[in-house]
Amino acid sequence: MRAAVLYKPDDLRVEEVEHPTVGPGELVIQVKGCGVCGTDLRVIRGKKKRGVHFPSVIGHEIAGEVVERGSGVQGFQPGDRVAVVPVISCFQCAYCLRDLENLCLNRRAIGYEFDGGFQEYLRLPEVAVRTGNVMKIPERLSFEEASLLEPFACCVNGSQRSNIPLGGMVVIIGAGPIGLMHLKLAKVFGAATVIMSEPAPLRREAALQMGADVAIDPKETDLQQVVTEHTDGIGADTVILAIGIPGLVGDLAKLLRKGGTLNLFAGFEEEAEARLLCNIVHYNQATITGSASSSRFHFQQAIALVGSGRVQLNDLITHRFPLEEIHGALQLTMEGKGLKAIVVP
Ligand SMILES: [Zn+2]
Ligand SMILES: [Zn+2]
Repeated sequence: MRAAVLYKPDDLRVEEVEHPTVGPGELVIQVKGCGVCGTDLRVIRGKKKRGVHFPSVIGHEIAGEVVERGSGVQGFQPGDRVAVVPVISCFQCAYCLRDLENLCLNRRAIGYEFDGGFQEYLRLPEVAVRTGNVMKIPERLSFEEASLLEPFACCVNGSQRSNIPLGGMVVIIGAGPIGLMHLKLAKVFGAATVIMSEPAPLRREAALQMGADVAIDPKETDLQQVVTEHTDGIGADTVILAIGIPGLVGDLAKLLRKGGTLNLFAGFEEEAEARLLCNIVHYNQATITGSASSSRFHFQQAIALVGSGRVQLNDLITHRFPLEEIHGALQLTMEGKGLKAIVVP
């Protein structure tokens, strides 16, 4: 079978590898779709090192079909359609005990410590099967759409931490796949108005088609003024930062109404710092929060929302690449062209 093997930073080769054999408690799935994520780019470029080993197969946004079942596995059989929750928590550390398994101190992940989805067949470790990290998906959900459940689950976590009030006004910075998922969730939460800021015309157009009320080009339009106009000078209930630019944080805090929430959803470079007027937080009782990764429950919520048709993610997928052309998918993601690229091995 074929796999995209990462030998070292900037050395990713699609080559013939041995077909995985199933061990006790394990499953082997045929990968039907694996999303390309900005984090994959950081891993390939050597900018993200935690949990990464060489050689390995990365890719953590995985959907596929069970083809082999190891001895002792209950509840799965060949033919089952599944999505994979990549983060495997320890269930014992201080954060797991506090119901924050996504922040586990001993977390391991498929696509990092364990081989991931940029290959034809994937062996899922016993621990992942045992802890419920393999989830069946409803029939109406395509494998391609299911491969987006992972980033969507992270957004489900993030939007629940963003205090979006019914009838509220939400500002989202960045209309890439993540920003657009936040747009869809803001609508689910009952936001009356969603304003998006995005320099790429294609992405602004996508935002408007997916229900944004306003999509501005930050190079040409003053976001502060737009927010002021739409809120009679009060400010936004919620601002979600979906791109990792720390220099924006101080200005974004100024967009909030009193008691509003700013969510630093995107990941930043390691030493990123921001300047912030402290009194915005003090006098305005603003909340500055963040969110990272997702739990198994967030993933279940994601399956419920997408599987029921309440949210659809298909319109986010603009490019599909066979495994042999994974470099094209990575290039496209790096350049921010289109919306979401997935690899279909
Ligand atoms: Zn990802
Ligand atoms: Zn833990």
